[in-house]
Amino acid sequence: MPTKPLEVSLPRYSLGTEHSLQTYRYGKSGGTPKVYIQAGIHADELPAPLVAHHLVSLLEDAEAAGNVTGDITIVPVANPVGLGQALLSDHLGRYDLSSGRNYNRSYPDVSAAVLETIASNMTGDADANRQTVATAIRGALAKVKPKSLVETLQLHLLQLACDCDIVLDLHTDSEAEMHLYLDPDNWPAAEDLAAELDASVVMTSRSSGGRPFEETAAAPWHAVRERFGADAVPLPLTTVIELRGYTDASDDLAAKDASALYRFLQRRGAISGDPGDAPAFRGIAAPFEATDLLVSPAAGIVTFKKDLGSSVEEGEIVAEIVDVSSNDATTCRTPVHAKTSGRLFTRCLTKLARPGSQIGKIQGTEPIVSRTGYLLTD
Ligand SMILES: [Zn+2]
Repeated sequence: MPTKPLEVSLPRYSLGTEHSLQTYRYGKSGGTPKVYIQAGIHADELPAPLVAHHLVSLLEDAEAAGNVTGDITIVPVANPVGLGQALLSDHLGRYDLSSGRNYNRSYPDVSAAVLETIASNMTGDADANRQTVATAIRGALAKVKPKSLVETLQLHLLQLACDCDIVLDLHTDSEAEMHLYLDPDNWPAAEDLAAELDASVVMTSRSSGGRPFEETAAAPWHAVRERFGADAVPLPLTTVIELRGYTDASDDLAAKDASALYRFLQRRGAISGDPGDAPAFRGIAAPFEATDLLVSPAAGIVTFKKDLGSSVEEGEIVAEIVDVSSNDATTCRTPVHAKTSGRLFTRCLTKLARPGSQIGKIQGTEPIVSRTGYLLTD
């Protein structure tokens, strides 16, 4: 008998329209590790919910066999609001159409309230402290008053993830190789995850500036460790997994990725059984500040000079922006140069560029001088 998902209705913000979240839960309450997996907060990144769908199937079998030893929650459709957004037949799921808000930005950070609550309750016992902090986080989030449907959705998702040991937020980039965003303190501890997924790139960052989901879920734990020391509480593993590109929604890839996540969960003790030999990580792991966000300097059509996955040298031409309205061959092409040596691991699918359009990413190993402050692109 398949697991019946818990269905939670979101408050109605529009007459006659109601959204709900379906949450699947495996294992038992109190099991460790406590794991939270969500997919598609950017609702147009369809490989992510497809991977979650395949993972649910694997977890169903594991549950039936009594093999789920942790406490696993999975939300295959984290953004039913964005999933229903379309404009003139095009699905638009990255931003809330009514407010322009990016669905994966501006989550509520309750670190200050948590620090205030736990001030006199911390002990030398990290496990006891973990419970104290988790209770404080849940209490602080319960006091947050969302002011819109998007904020309500975000708060609900954060409440599911806030006290978990492992938080996997599944996304997809434009055209891309498999890559991850991780807190620097989770590297190389999370090498097992990156290796299982055969990620090409791991970018490490704690505070990219936009308060995305995975950073905000970890923020109170970091705040506690900074105030009381790294031994005070264990650090959760919170990560964004970019499951290649928008068009990579296939059963073959999704089954492969779901199996990789399943083996990772086995290695972390959430599911019993032998995951086999641990693979080696073959990619680049480096600070997010070492990621060259390629930006178009002109209006035109993007033509790439380097394939996805290419190694490039600093100064090399990665792409050209072609002004097809010009007949002057000497000026109609504006080159885009690499600002670092590394691997071209994402490229834009949309080839129409404006000045400032982000057209790809190169992962180097050394921080780029200009990469300070707000590190994200939107
Ligand atoms: Zn995304």
